[in-house]
Order: sequence, then C-alpha cells, then structure tokens
Amino acid sequence: MNPESLFGIALGITPPWEVEGIEFSKENKRLDIKIGFQRGATFPCPVCGSPAPAYDTTEKTWRHLNFFQYEAYLTARVPRVKCPNADCGIKQVAVPWARAGYGFTLLFEALVMALVREMPVKATAALLGEHDTRIWRVVDHYVQRAREKADYSEVTRVGIDETSARRGQDYISLFFDLDQRRLLFGTAGKDHETVKAFTKDLATHNGTPENITAACIDMSKAFIKGISEALPNAEITFDPFHLIQLMNDALGKVRAEEARLFPELLRGSRYAFLKNPENLTEKQDETLTRLSRYHLKTARAYLIKLALQDVYFAHTRDDAEGLLKSWYNWAIRSRIEQVKKVARTIKGHWNGILAWFDSKLSNGFLEAINGLIQAAKRRARGYRSTKNLINMAYLIAGKLDFALPT
Ligand SMILES: [Zn+2]
Repeated sequence: MNPESLFGIALGITPPWEVEGIEFSKENKRLDIKIGFQRGATFPCPVCGSPAPAYDTTEKTWRHLNFFQYEAYLTARVPRVKCPNADCGIKQVAVPWARAGYGFTLLFEALVMALVREMPVKATAALLGEHDTRIWRVVDHYVQRAREKADYSEVTRVGIDETSARRGQDYISLFFDLDQRRLLFGTAGKDHETVKAFTKDLATHNGTPENITAACIDMSKAFIKGISEALPNAEITFDPFHLIQLMNDALGKVRAEEARLFPELLRGSRYAFLKNPENLTEKQDETLTRLSRYHLKTARAYLIKLALQDVYFAHTRDDAEGLLKSWYNWAIRSRIEQVKKVARTIKGHWNGILAWFDSKLSNGFLEAINGLIQAAKRRARGYRSTKNLINMAYLIAGKLDFALPT
C-alpha cells in the first residue's frame, strides 16, 4: 500500500475524492496532504442532488489533527458543479471532511471541543497554535447546533441567577432547569426583559411558560417583575443562599464600622465572623470568645445571623414562620442599622422566603450550580464577548448533546 492510499483510508477519504500527494517538511514542522478527485468525476448537486460534473475549482486548506508533533493540513481543489438541471446553476460542492466556509476539519473541531471542556479557550488556542477568536467560533457553532436540538418540554421549575461578566461592568442572567440541573438559557443584562427573552427561547424548544410552576431567584426587583409578567403560574422562592449572603454582607459592614472605632480589639476577626461556629479554627474560636465579653454590635449581629440560618432548619413552613417572626422582632429592635435594613428586606419578601419550605429548592443544589458557573467564568477567561461567556456556560452546564464527529 502506498502512503497516499494509507492516508486516504486514515482520513476516511472516499471516491471521487482521493489523496493525490503528501508533502512533509521537517523544517516547517508540517505535513500537507493534497486531495483531488478523479478526472471526469461527478458530485451530487448541492441543490437537487443530481450527479453533476465539475465546472471549475478553487484551492482550499483546512487544519487537521496533528501528525505526531507536526501540524497537518488538508488542501483540496474544491469544484463548483454545473448541474444538468439549469435551475440549480453553478454551485460549490460540500466536502465530507469539513463544514462549508471553515478552515478546520471536523475532526480538528472535535478536538477543539474536547479541549475547551477541560481548559481555558486561551490555553486551548495556545496549545493548538491558533488565534482564540477561531476557537471561539468553533465553540459558538457547536453550542448553537446542540441547543437547536435541546428539548425543554418537561421544564417546570426554574432557577434564575445573575452573574457579573466583565469586572462587574456587564451582567448576564442565567436560567436553570432545577430538576434536570442544567442551564437552559443565558442572556446579557439583568433586567425584567431577560425573563421575557427566556420564555421566547423556551417556546422554541417545545417548552411552555404556563408549565413553569416554581421560580427560585434572589430578591431582585427586576426578576420579580419579569416573572409576574412572563411566567404567570410560577410561585417565587427566594434563594436561601442569597438571603444569608445579604445578612453576611450586613455583618461585614457592621464589623468594618466597628473596627474603625476599636481597631485593636477587632483586628484579625473578619473571617471569624463570616464562618459558622462549627467551622472556626481554634484561634478564631478564641477570638470570638474574647470578643463576646465586650458589648460589641458585631457580636450581636453575628448571633442574629446564626439565628437567621437556624430558620432554615425548621421542618415545616409553619415552624419556619414562627422562627422568622421571632427573628424579625429581634433584628428590627437590634438598634443596628445594617441589621434593621436586612430585617425590612426580609419582611418585604416574606412569602417568597417561606415558599422555600414548600418548594424544597435546596440550598446545596444552588451552590453546586453556582460552582459550575464559576468554572465557566474561569474557563472563559479573556472571553472577549458576553456571547462567548454564555457559550462557555452552555458548554459546561447545558448538558447538551454535541454530536461531534468521531
Ligand atoms: Zn441541481
């Protein structure tokens, strides 16, 4: 067997295509495979499928999988055919090894998709010696194609989260299927219109906005408004994770203010107050015990935070409501402005907070999803556009079927 036929078999090149020649350059570290077609060959017309003879050809080159450490390229004379059916006219034929208009072979694209799931796109681009915008274009194509096939007809419970894109300047909103644990939709912005955009997308994937019975969100006014407009049957649950975060932020501010008044006393206490008692190091535990002897606002705010967390251990919605009422009365009388502010926010979102005890949308689950998105952000580092960041989120959290060539 000559090397041309061997490469033809390895590449899956079938008649009328054939490998015409192989050029190997050790100096240029590349392998070039020339592909042509048999004289007088016909190709199926891209319009009607009738066998049609070549009219003229243009030379095109595609990057293929490396041949050991050498970059490999396919170069082919690609014909335009003149169809016997005059209505079809003169058309460029499709090649079986690549998508029309793209400079990578399908197998090279499959490698790209395998790599970007494991490492940042920038690193993938560097490893392959390609510009990252070309890599992003491949990601976009396969994500869009896989999303076209995604079916959302069973979706009933969604979680919505916003995350900052570029250094907190831009935001994207992400819509998750809470039962299948997958990303359904991502879009730029964090206003109420994002919910409308989601329902539009849902409808193109066999989903029905009326089937959505539960939505888990943070206490954002925009999402509350968007849900009331676009998801008429969705009961809102406010995400416990965000609620505790709000309380932690308030506690952090109380501590920072007090640390300016008593810098010696509160030095090194920042992380001790953020942790739960069971997670404290011995030293942090000592710090808190020492500080508890003083009448510090920070220490009181800390106890109020722990009590808020305890509400979530209630077994029923009624028990939870009792605990939340006691908590509210304590917090609103705390004479700590930051804590009172949290108490007022909680009062204003009362039912949605208690809805958690019926919807059982679990805290740990939301954190797991958040972890996926953080991974997507890390892997999309230097992502150039919001679209690329969203594509990376689909890639990691979308549970899409990419149907890659093998
Ligand atoms: Zn035709």
